[in-house]
Amino acid sequence: MDFKNFALSISQTKVARFAKELAEGKIMATLCKKCGKKYYPPRADCSDCMSSEMEWKPIGGEGKLVTFTKIYVPPEHFAIRQPLMPFSSVQFEPCPIGILEVEDGLRIMGWIPKIDVKKIRVGMKLKASPQILLDGKVTIILETL
Ligand SMILES: [Zn+2]
Repeated sequence: MDFKNFALSISQTKVARFAKELAEGKIMATLCKKCGKKYYPPRADCSDCMSSEMEWKPIGGEGKLVTFTKIYVPPEHFAIRQPLMPFSSVQFEPCPIGILEVEDGLRIMGWIPKIDVKKIRVGMKLKASPQILLDGKVTIILETL
């Protein structure tokens, strides 16, 4: 099967700056200059007033956990723990993913790798931070303050 490489097309979008800033340690949102609506993930155009005049703003990242779930078959690059089965990359330990509500009601989805799954509670205060994984990919993690 022939797979397309989307790397080039992603770097040419109007919101490509998001990935670049994330790799540099900043979580960015966009703010509509006309009506003031804030967007996360960033948008190039405002869906409320149809303006394309957007301003990029960093998000502080501190907020409350709105919800979370456990993924039993996580993406390969989330497998930071040793595989439980010899000669296999399969990881059966649940991988928690949550949604954090931060400033202005913006919601950030992130991986929660550093907190024991049994101790994660809706409403707990966490901080979203960019994290570069072992394979060089960038993700957002949610961790305690
Ligand atoms: Zn607007």
